[in-house]
Amino acid sequence: MQAFFSQQVVMPGGIRRAAVLVEGGQIQSVVPPDSVPLGVEAHDFGEAAILPGLVDSHVHINDPGRADWEGFETATRAAAAGGYTLLVDMPLNCQPATCSVAALELKRAAAQGRCRVDWAAWGGVVHDNQNDIVALAAAGVVGFKCFLVHPGIDSFTMVSEQQLRAALPHVARTGLPLLVHAELSGPIDKFSETLGHADWRRYATYLQSRPDEAELCAIRLLLSLCRQYKFRLHIVHLSTSQALRELSTVRSEGLPVSVETCPHYLHFASEAIADGATLQKCAPPIRSRENREQLWQGLSDGIIDLIATDHSPCRPEMKRLDEGNFKTAWGGISSLSLALPVIWTEASNRGFSLLDIVHWMAEGPARLAGCHRRKGRIAAGYDADLVVFDPDSEFLLGKERLHYQHPVSPYLGEKLRGIVKATYLRGKPVFVEGEFPGMAIGREFRLN
Ligand SMILES: [Zn+2]
Repeated sequence: MQAFFSQQVVMPGGIRRAAVLVEGGQIQSVVPPDSVPLGVEAHDFGEAAILPGLVDSHVHINDPGRADWEGFETATRAAAAGGYTLLVDMPLNCQPATCSVAALELKRAAAQGRCRVDWAAWGGVVHDNQNDIVALAAAGVVGFKCFLVHPGIDSFTMVSEQQLRAALPHVARTGLPLLVHAELSGPIDKFSETLGHADWRRYATYLQSRPDEAELCAIRLLLSLCRQYKFRLHIVHLSTSQALRELSTVRSEGLPVSVETCPHYLHFASEAIADGATLQKCAPPIRSRENREQLWQGLSDGIIDLIATDHSPCRPEMKRLDEGNFKTAWGGISSLSLALPVIWTEASNRGFSLLDIVHWMAEGPARLAGCHRRKGRIAAGYDADLVVFDPDSEFLLGKERLHYQHPVSPYLGEKLRGIVKATYLRGKPVFVEGEFPGMAIGREFRLN
């Protein structure tokens, strides 16, 4: 048996001085430090906090097919360094996209023996795979993802309203959530037409091309479909705060809707994005400072359930840093190794606690992915996925802390608060003080 001691063990009921007892990779119990049986293997982390391993429900690992963008080894290494012990991989940007059981099996083969943390798969819903949905669920995906707008890549198709309506009865039958990229092309095309000769080096041009309205219209459509088809709807990467009021109303109605936002929307603000700074391009876009504060309010009010990274890497040249063109640059921001300190820096400045962090970054995503009885909590019977986190130390972010394949980041050079000292997966260390000990012991979490 192992015992992990800390002055601050972050559990559902509060933050306590305690020892977490672990046997066979599972948490046996959490006890006062003086009740630990003799002869256990003791790890005393003193003042550092022990958090449950974080769960990231929105990651693009891009493997197989685009392992030159990221890959299972590098993504899960960055995850371990960032305090994550389970990643849920998006069905696109890998090739083939995860839209059939055969494609899912290829992804499983690619992941075999290469993961430092656990992973699970979202299945894709595209224009023509309605008949694959139930089979994907039976094969073990934890839910589905679709786009209402072009996803920035041609190997994964968006769905029209009609195609979505054809898919929804199948999705509802599985009982699994459907994650939706909620922007509609109508408002985007309308605004983009007026920007024909605009300067695409300017961030303001990009922001104008993807207005709040595109998100709002998509969310309204989705809410009405949710009411009609009674499926579990999850809005990924909410960027506009203008949708919060309607989301709050439908949630009090009891509609099965959940919402996520991402570190970049909670940290950056459009006013401070320099022209040509395409490292900050993502879709939907980073909006104003005022909008960012409203998103924090949405988290505080419980309208936004969780924070996921939307870790979306590419080959560095695709960011077009030389020309700084927001039209042609790849949209996506990588943050697997950084999300915890980024969010802790922002959250602690606003008076939130580590309990809130665990709620948003472990319990919430675990519930979405259906692994909330095994992951996301420090409690008896859960996997012994533990993060040792020093919440008080600050550091200047350099490339050596990124750990994913291409060390580019809009966060480089920032001073952040909170350092991940170690990460344990089922009781075994997978990250300790900058090193990755042991074998790649991560495995797939399946619902079936
Ligand atoms: Zn994404």
